[in-house]
Formats: sequence, structure tokens, C-alpha cells
Amino acid sequence: MPAEDTITKTVWQYSEPLPEDTMEFLKGIALDYSKVKSYTYNRYSGIKSLDRLTPAFDIMREVRQSGLRAQLGLPSAYFSPAIVDAVADIKGMWGMLKNKLGTLITANENLSDEDRIYLRTVMRLDKIYAAVLRDEAYEMPRKAKGLSIDVERLNNLLRRLTRRHLTKLEVGSTDYFCIASSGYTYRAGAIYIASRTSKQRIELPLKDSNVCRRQIRLCIRKDYAALALPVETKVKKHADYNNTVYIHIGYQDMFTLSNGNVYGQSLGGMTSTETQRLTDKNRERARIRAAYQQSMESGDGKKAVNMKSNNLGTVKYDRRKEKERAKTEVFINTEINKMLAAEKPNRIVITRPISINKTKLPAKSSNRNMTRSFNGYIRDRLSYKCRINSIELVEINSKGTGTMCSQCGAEGKRSQDGFYCPECGYASAISINGAKNIEKKYNKKK
Ligand SMILES: [Zn+2]
Repeated sequence: MPAEDTITKTVWQYSEPLPEDTMEFLKGIALDYSKVKSYTYNRYSGIKSLDRLTPAFDIMREVRQSGLRAQLGLPSAYFSPAIVDAVADIKGMWGMLKNKLGTLITANENLSDEDRIYLRTVMRLDKIYAAVLRDEAYEMPRKAKGLSIDVERLNNLLRRLTRRHLTKLEVGSTDYFCIASSGYTYRAGAIYIASRTSKQRIELPLKDSNVCRRQIRLCIRKDYAALALPVETKVKKHADYNNTVYIHIGYQDMFTLSNGNVYGQSLGGMTSTETQRLTDKNRERARIRAAYQQSMESGDGKKAVNMKSNNLGTVKYDRRKEKERAKTEVFINTEINKMLAAEKPNRIVITRPISINKTKLPAKSSNRNMTRSFNGYIRDRLSYKCRINSIELVEINSKGTGTMCSQCGAEGKRSQDGFYCPECGYASAISINGAKNIEKKYNKKK
């Protein structure tokens, strides 16, 4: 099957609650897994290894031969995926670094167009980029031949920028690990995974009867395991999807289209009710916490213990929050599906998200503004559904799409009541003006 006709999605599978010693075993594997990742990061995330990451056979072999596996007593089924996992992170780190440098190079006014061509060409070719960073001889790439540039100056700049922006990778969470397909078997409603003793496996009873044959990821939860199974999904092609739609993604209404149709209308209301509930709840918890502190200080330990166990537990609070989140996610997915079925697009145009760096850091209270946190989720799901339905998703720069009048192009005013243009008198919701501007801007570009 050709690669472009399928896409991999994740199906989650959950274990039954597990005995304590099984949970301890899982945590031990996860810890050692993170040690292998950390070892790989430390050795191969520097400039010395840049040209050895793809393919990573040498790195794989070296780490396997390092003696680390025997030292940890970690089965290969966990050890090898840990190396691959780490190498993928290192590659991702380099990818981000190159993006960053690309932006800096574009913005640097001391560089000529030819300088920029040279720098971008070098960054695309890992072997040459690595040679530049290590100050070694290399053959000038074809695209960079004949440019009138000061190569030494540019190489120095590249070395300096790389050194400044190269980040040290650190293992974040130690609550998951991957298992190679050789490291598990499914049997009678359970998965049996490799233990530290050869030929012995650990049983994890499951809640469903799904099976998998590829590498899986095991995430450790409070008293159970969640397994991420990669599943191939066929990409659908819709012969009757022929429209281009322009979407404003908003905080009140999820999608407003330039044709006036709205999907996910109550999203703002839904999440602001939840935001309000959490705000109230947190205020109440802060009050109890203060009283608890006071009881402790005045020596009334018994009262304090009582208060704590009755009111400050996070389990119920988290469960409720989780439930609300799941409900909103179902709503978002349903509305995206509705939009696709009704609008039949073969192309969707939206604006690129505004990068975090450019916006002011949000105040702590707005951390609880749930719609904002759902914005990323909405974009992810839209992007995913576009891929499985063969719909082209175009992201354009948002500049001007918010403040410009979609009718006459003048600078308009935005207020709580909506958008108003003092020039031509056009008044509408901010979202519909935004969607119409996206349409205008996209078609002007072509
Ligand atoms: Zn106007």
C-alpha cells in the first residue's frame, strides 16, 4: 500500500487496575528507559553527531555495545526503542534550531540575498553543516557555487548562532516507555510484556480486545497503564468535495466561515461556564487551604487532617475537570465533522496561529481560560481530519485579517459589540469580518 494512502493514528487501550508490584515494575522500566535516552542525548546531541543522525545505525550500534544495557538489566525490547526515541528527539531539536536560525537569518539586515542562499543551503545539508560547525574542509554545494560571498564570515556567523541556540536536551517525564513488537504478546484479554528475567512475561489484563503488531507506547497512570497503539487508517477521497472554505477560528464561535455559516456556536459559552466553575472552585479551595494552615499553626492537627481529607483532595477535582474536557473535545470533533459534511471542501484556508514568542505571557488567571487551551486542540483535529479526508489545509499570515474592513479595506474598530468601519460604515461580528478578510487575502495572493 503506498504511504500516501494511509495515515497512522493512535488508538488508546487501557489496562485494568494493576497490582502494586506490577506498577513498580513498570515504573522501574520507565526509569531505565529514560536513562538510556539521557545517555543518548548526552552523547549524540552535539555538533559532532549532526551528520550521523540519519540513518542512525552507527549510533544504535554504539549504544548497544556500550555495556549500558547489561548494566541496567533492561530487555532489548525496551532498550532499542529508547535509543530510537532519543535520536528522534535530537533530530527534532535540530529541526527547531534550524527554523530558529532561518528566522534570524531572514531578519538579519547585514546579510545579502546571496548570503542567505548560502546559509540556507548549508543548513539543509547536514554533512556540510556539520563540517562548517567543526571547522573542517568540505566541498562547496552546487547551489552555493559562484555566489559573491565572504564564506569565512558566514561560517563564523553560523557557528556562533548554532552555539548560542543549541539546547541541551533533558529527559522530561519518566512515566512512559516504548515496547518493540518482539517484547509483547496478546493472549486472552491481556498483554504480556517482557520482564527483566528472560522468557518470563508480566501480565497486564486489558479492558478491550484490540491487538497490535507494531511498536507500542506504554504510559503509566495512577494505578493502571494506557497503551498507545499505532493503527493505519485509510485516507478517504471524496469526489464531491470541491469547495474552498475560509475559516475564522474564534474563542466564542469555534468556526465562522466567510459564507456566514457558523460551527461550534456554543463553544465559548461551554468553556466559559467551565472556566467560571473552576475559578469558583479554586477560590473555595484557597479559603479552605488558608483555614487548614491556621489550624495546623494553632496546633489543632486533628481538625486540620479532617479538613484536608474532606476538601483538598485532588482526585475528585481532577476527575471532574477531565470529564468536562472530554465533553468539550467530543463537541469539537462533532462540529468539525458537521462542517466538513455540509461544506464539502477540498481546500480550507485558515490563519497561522500567532506564535507564543510574540504575544505577552498570559496572566495566571487566564491560564484557566479553557477556550484558549482548546485552540491548539481544534487546530490539531482540523489538521488531522483534513489529512484523512484528502483536504488541503492552507495557513496564511493573520496580519491585517483582524483589523481591516473586509468591504473597503480601511482600518476598522473592534469592540465588544463587534467590528465597525468608520470609513464605509460596515458593521458585523468580528469573526465574520475576519473570515471575509481571510478569503480576500488568500485570493489576492494568487
Ligand atoms: Zn469599510
